[in-house]
Amino acid sequence: MIPFNKPFLTGNETKYIEEAVASGKISGNGMFTKKCQAFFENTYGFKKCLLTTSCTDALEMCAILANINADDEVIVPSYTFVSTALAFVRQNAKIIFADSSPRHPNMDVATIEPLITNKTKAIVVVHYAGVACDMDAIMDLASTYNLIVIEDAAQAIASYYKGKPLGTIGHLSAFSFHETKNIISGEGGLLGINDEQFIDRSEIIWEKGTNRSQFFRGEINKYGWVDTGSSFLPSEIIAAFLYAQLENLEQIQNKRKQLWNAYYKQLSEANITHFSLPQTPEYATQNGHMFYLVAKTEKHRNDLIAHLKDHNIHAVFHYQSLHESDYYKNNHTGRALIHANFFTACLVSLPLFFDLTLEQVAQITKTIIAYDREI
Ligand SMILES: *Cc1c(COP(=O)(O)O)cnc(C)c1O
Repeated sequence: MIPFNKPFLTGNETKYIEEAVASGKISGNGMFTKKCQAFFENTYGFKKCLLTTSCTDALEMCAILANINADDEVIVPSYTFVSTALAFVRQNAKIIFADSSPRHPNMDVATIEPLITNKTKAIVVVHYAGVACDMDAIMDLASTYNLIVIEDAAQAIASYYKGKPLGTIGHLSAFSFHETKNIISGEGGLLGINDEQFIDRSEIIWEKGTNRSQFFRGEINKYGWVDTGSSFLPSEIIAAFLYAQLENLEQIQNKRKQLWNAYYKQLSEANITHFSLPQTPEYATQNGHMFYLVAKTEKHRNDLIAHLKDHNIHAVFHYQSLHESDYYKNNHTGRALIHANFFTACLVSLPLFFDLTLEQVAQITKTIIAYDREI
């Protein structure tokens, strides 16, 4: 069976974990944490980065930093992973779900302005499959209506909007290092801060509501409880693993993009008719996170997954539109979100991981092309 995903190891993960253990400092905010944070700050130009135990946690930090509360509305795409909305629901906000574009799972920027009310405090954008949302239009809305923009960049490492790294455009952003993402640490995440007003408080929230980070820098002579927060920081063991991955970021990205390009070339040259290929707007790049097809009908999508399974290829579908989830459907008061539901019904995601070979991609595309001709 060709699996859907297989976590890639660079070879240095356990060596760095041994170093962390030998150093005698294995709790958070040690040498490897600082190296990882500096890597992101220097490579992409964030004002400040903090490692977290997941992207979900980084999004929760964003919700706390933005002072989201029960009086607020937060605009979130419906077609996304649960955490994009959950982090704000935990602050008791009302979620206003936005639809996808007709041709891309990303939220349709043209539909956002009518969703804004005097209660709206933030817009959370998701760069689906690492492909940028139209950030100029979103940042314009944010400045007109005085909103905070949070980028859920879980899938968007090393991807760009008009040359700007994703995650550096909104006020705050969140990345994931879950084992299904491009760069991994098992579970893991990162908070990116682009607006300086959030920096001081972010360190306090990260360290269980204490000013311990300031204490360790020698800026104050005792530390204590000064704000809300949680234990959002990962141990050095996680950071050591992550650093081994970051050292190989370019190699990982090159291979993933090569596989993505092979899928795209072979399927577009075959002119398949029942499934359409992913579209990358001119302002965006693709980062080899995910290769998906969009079927004309749900039946074609489900039949393709079954057909691939018969040929020992594991393809998957996701997400259930969040406005129709068991947990939140009764709170959705807006209109039907037909494009989000369309991607829920018709999108299929193909195997894409570092150790996948070009021969395996050719085998997968051949199977799809033959199936497309046959139905
Ligand atoms: C993976 C993912 C998350 C959650 O990341 P975790 O690190 O598992 O918390 C959130 N949003 C999106 C869009 C994702 O793809």
